[in-house]
Amino acid sequence: MLQFGYKINYLGINKVRFGGDYWMKHGSSTLNFERIKGLFSFKNRIVRGLTAFVVVASIVGIGFASYSANESKTRAFEVYLGDEAIGIVRTEEEALKAYGDIEERLSSTYDMGVVLDKELAFQPTHAKDEELTGYGELKSNIQTRISVQVTGFSLDIDGERLGVFKSKEEVDYILDAIKKPYLPAVVDEEPAIEAVQTAEPEPQKEPATHTIQSGENFWTIAKKYDLSAMELMKANPELNPDRLKPGDIVKLLDGAASTATSATTASSPADEQVRDVVIKEVGFLEKVEIEPIETSFGSLSDPEKAIEAIMAGKEAMRTHVVEVGESYWIIARMYGTTVEALESANPELSSTKLKPGDEVKLFVPVPLLTVVTHEEVKYIADIDFETKVENDDSMYKNQKKIIVKGVKGKADVLAEEIRHNGILVDEVIIEKNILEEPKTEVVAQGTKELPKTAAVGSFVMPTRGRVSSPYGMRNGTMHKGIDLANSKGTAVYAADGGKVTFAGYKGSYGYLIEINHENGYVTRYAHNSKLLVKSGDRVYRGQQIATMGSTGRSTGSHLHFEVLINGSHKNPYSYIFR
Ligand SMILES: [Zn+2]
Repeated sequence: MLQFGYKINYLGINKVRFGGDYWMKHGSSTLNFERIKGLFSFKNRIVRGLTAFVVVASIVGIGFASYSANESKTRAFEVYLGDEAIGIVRTEEEALKAYGDIEERLSSTYDMGVVLDKELAFQPTHAKDEELTGYGELKSNIQTRISVQVTGFSLDIDGERLGVFKSKEEVDYILDAIKKPYLPAVVDEEPAIEAVQTAEPEPQKEPATHTIQSGENFWTIAKKYDLSAMELMKANPELNPDRLKPGDIVKLLDGAASTATSATTASSPADEQVRDVVIKEVGFLEKVEIEPIETSFGSLSDPEKAIEAIMAGKEAMRTHVVEVGESYWIIARMYGTTVEALESANPELSSTKLKPGDEVKLFVPVPLLTVVTHEEVKYIADIDFETKVENDDSMYKNQKKIIVKGVKGKADVLAEEIRHNGILVDEVIIEKNILEEPKTEVVAQGTKELPKTAAVGSFVMPTRGRVSSPYGMRNGTMHKGIDLANSKGTAVYAADGGKVTFAGYKGSYGYLIEINHENGYVTRYAHNSKLLVKSGDRVYRGQQIATMGSTGRSTGSHLHFEVLINGSHKNPYSYIFR
């Protein structure tokens, strides 16, 4: 009986190729194939060779049959993990099961898709039962040789990686959290503000407010009170979301956010306009890419931290135009930054004295993501009336009179509004149906040249002289005018154009002239020695109306000059000395 010295050669087997030429390369077999080959080459000894061949062939045939039986019984597979042989199994399925078990157990441990960094490969081989690797041993051989790779999802914003997250759902959660403040408040959620409301001992009539602290914006406030930043912005139209300053008061309740608290619905009667908003599209201005990616478990990012990072954003340059009275210190407080930061950002500006109109560069954080919302909005809009001017030569040039009062019209508007982080950037009117036409206002405009005696609106000095007594309290009584002293006969002039309403003697005033300037102003000139105009005369600005004297209650030649506006005395000083 011919026995094949068939034995697994652990070291040499890598080179063995199973298939048609298996026999030829199996050099360790007791059969000498070289000799068989050699027999064929002796062509001149065919008969002898043929005899030999038959003999050998029959031996080989017997041996082959015997081998075949043995071969199928010992058929096995050498298992490779990557390049490394880790055992022998009878069937590939056993190894695949062990591998799958490990993957499954890790997936449930990590609660996510797990990928092992090395794959299984098989080489057919032969082995006796005792040479096979046990299931447990095979598993441990795999476990000790692999490192776990997890399949995460990367989130890239404009090509920059924010992080790799455990699942697509986690990435969606992040993006939804960023979008949420700009979407209408969800009705089934109890607004947190209600708790604040009921905590008050008395039911609050005024809408709840929040005072802005440094670093806060509509987004952070919305998050704090579980409100929609969009609703907050709409409830606070007077606040520029880009220019919130510490100390600004934000109304928290209005419109949709306050539906639950009916007691406070009368919060803003001025803002009666009803807007029907349907969000058509929500997206981001930036390019957002999500890709599955293999990574190590330890390098996965925390979604909550990612949300914070997006909101904290990157520093972007903005400018602040300096207004009167503003200093670096004030501006730093306004934007929650420091004087040092402002100074280093603005080396070209003199730090000691900012001038109104100076542009101060500010580096303020801008969120990494800009939520773009396309909203379809339905509302009733006012239509401004037109104004028709009609010339009227019966009135002076400076006169105007409304003949027909204009009335605003109303229109039903359907518009698409595009907002970036809640700030309106574009509005397209889709449809506009006029409900009420506006009524044109008709205004009569005077064309007549102004008379010389019409008031100009500013005063000239009523005389030449020194101030002998100012306006105000004097010896316990009120001195309602200003005294200008000069010699008797000095000219007294009308301070502005107008109509003489009194010219005559009047008690302690002596000879008095009163002029109505027909613009709310009345002036009085007292203690005159001689009057040059009479009641009813029209006088022009600077026209001489009297001569100075000391008539009435007076202690020397002077003009007592009074100015009244709509019947009440004013200090003439500020009207004549300017
Ligand atoms: Zn006086």
